[in-house]
Parts: sequence; structure tokens; C-alpha cells
Amino acid sequence: MSLADLFERIPGQSRLAGELEAHVQQPKNSYFFVGPHDAGVLTAAKAFAKAILCADRGCGECQSCQAIEQDLHPDVAVYERSGAALTVSEAREITEMAFRSTSGSSYQVIIVPEMELVGRAAPVLLKSVEEPPISTIFLLLASMEVPELRTLMSRSIVVKFDPLSEEQIYQYLIMRGHDPRDAKDAVRLSAGRWSRAVELVGNPELRERFSLWEELPGLLSKDISVIISLVDRLIGAVTLMEERRKKEQKKETSELNEMAKALGVSRAFLGDKLEEKHKRELRRIRTTELRAGLLLLEMHYRNQLLLEGLPSGALRADMDAIRQIEDSQSALVRNCNEFLLLVALLSRLPSKAS
Ligand SMILES: [Zn+2]
Repeated sequence: MSLADLFERIPGQSRLAGELEAHVQQPKNSYFFVGPHDAGVLTAAKAFAKAILCADRGCGECQSCQAIEQDLHPDVAVYERSGAALTVSEAREITEMAFRSTSGSSYQVIIVPEMELVGRAAPVLLKSVEEPPISTIFLLLASMEVPELRTLMSRSIVVKFDPLSEEQIYQYLIMRGHDPRDAKDAVRLSAGRWSRAVELVGNPELRERFSLWEELPGLLSKDISVIISLVDRLIGAVTLMEERRKKEQKKETSELNEMAKALGVSRAFLGDKLEEKHKRELRRIRTTELRAGLLLLEMHYRNQLLLEGLPSGALRADMDAIRQIEDSQSALVRNCNEFLLLVALLSRLPSKAS
């Protein structure tokens, strides 16, 4: 296995594996991975980190590679900011991390996702990105190039990811041996996001429950009890996902001893890291699922807009629906009550009877 093999898991980006392969032996201090959401920048960053730290240049299977996959490697950090944008004090924290010594690896890798939200914190990061200790490698990820990033990018190797088409995602699923009909459903329900499509294609139950989002526009009614029962079903599907993840987490915890031994770190250290990761996952899973659903719903109204000969009243209603859905998406991030939020949204969307 090599970096190229690891990149095989990211559709459409094999060209980049060739570009990065040349850096595995003697990596530079800072890289910028720029690509649209879900073009695989985080997966690629982890693949690159694996190749750099693995004795076998990225086998994908040794304890080091597995620990990176699970965010548990002591010398690979995926920095999670706490709020909507990176703060100056968080940027200082990252700078401090850069000057920490490694716990045994030849390098430490610091991955910072969503750098487009760097705001005023960019200048703080600049110093450590420009002149970090020789053993520190920054992998900075961004979905777009914003002006604040210009200087940071000029000090880094910039790797640009291409957006993926639905056809590429479909072909990717077919190549991995999935049934064409399942693949087609998964691509449609993923609203063009490949990691979601991968999740959906292997999970018929999730596909079935999730497709309720797609059917929603035809089921909406002025009758509030209809709306409430729809929202109950939508939230029930999310809870199911949450329960499933909890089960997987239990399994990960039970394998902790073995991994700690192989990585040469204490069980307590790894246990804390795993617990933190599990909590973070559970905090996010509900929002992530609901946003995926809202995105699909939004797609419905966007596709409507493309239909020819739509009367102006219907056009206005669709535009209004899109705006309502977008508002709900941002409200979700602010931790609103999800039940009330969905009831309010669905009762405002155009119903068949209206
Ligand atoms: Zn490995």
C-alpha cells in the first residue's frame, strides 16, 4: 500500500496522490488543501499524515495508520475549534502545539479544518506556519480561498482539489462493487456528497428512513398533526443513527488496550482522547443528520426552480421555501430545539392543499 492506494478511497483525486507522493520522504512544513466541501480534503489530509508517519509509507493497516484514521494518534492532531470561527486564543493554542515535541514519531502533524473561517486569527498563525520546528507539519484545509488566507497560503504548498460530479460518485460506488440501483439511490439522496453516498449505499435501513426527506414536499399539509407526525418520524431516524454510533463507540473502547500497547502510549492518555472524540461525535451526529436532510429538501426546491414555464407565484413560493430552509440550517448550528425548529419550518413550506 502507498499514498496512491490511500487516495483510491477518495474519488476523483488520484492526480493529487502523485503530487503529494514526492513529499512523503521529506515533507515541507506547511500544506494547504483547498477543495469544496466533501471533495475529500480531510480524508486526504489523514492519508498524507499516514504516509508520512507509517514505516511502510502509508500501509493503511498498521497501528499508526489505524490510530490516525480514528483520530487517536498521539502525534497527529485534528484541531477542533469551539465556535463558529477560529478565535485568536485558539490560534495561539495551535501555535503552542506546533512547538511541542513529538511523542516518538519523526514528525507531528497538525490538521486544521475549515481555515476559511480563520478571520482575525490568521496573523497569529502566520509566525508558526512560517517558522515551525522542523518536526512540525501543518495541514491546513479550506473549502475556498478567502483574502485572510492569502499570506498563509503563500508560505505553504497549495494543493487544489476538484469538485466531484454525481457521475463520478456513482462510478466510484460501482467500482467498489455496489448494486447500480443502490448506488443511484445513494447518490441522489446524498445531494452530491460522496462520503454521505458511501454511508448510504452500504446501509439500506438508513436509505429507507432518510428518503422521507425526499418525499416530504408531497406529504406536507396545513394540518398541524400531520406535520408533527412527520417531524416525529424524521427525528426518530436521527435517534436511530445516534444509537448505532453509540454501539460502534462501545466496540472502539473495548479495543483500546491493544492500540495503546501498539502505539506505546498509556491507556489513560488514549482513553481520554477517545472519550473526547466520542462525546464530540455524539454532539454532532444529530445536527449532521438533520442538515443532510435539510440539504436534500433544499435541493428539491432548487430543482423546481429549474423547471421551465413555472408560474411566477410558484417561483416565488420555491424561492421562499429555499430561504426558510437555509435559515433553519443556520439555526440548527446555534443549537435550537430541533423538534420546534422542524415543526415551524414544515408548517411554513408550501403544502399540496395550498
Ligand atoms: Zn501504516
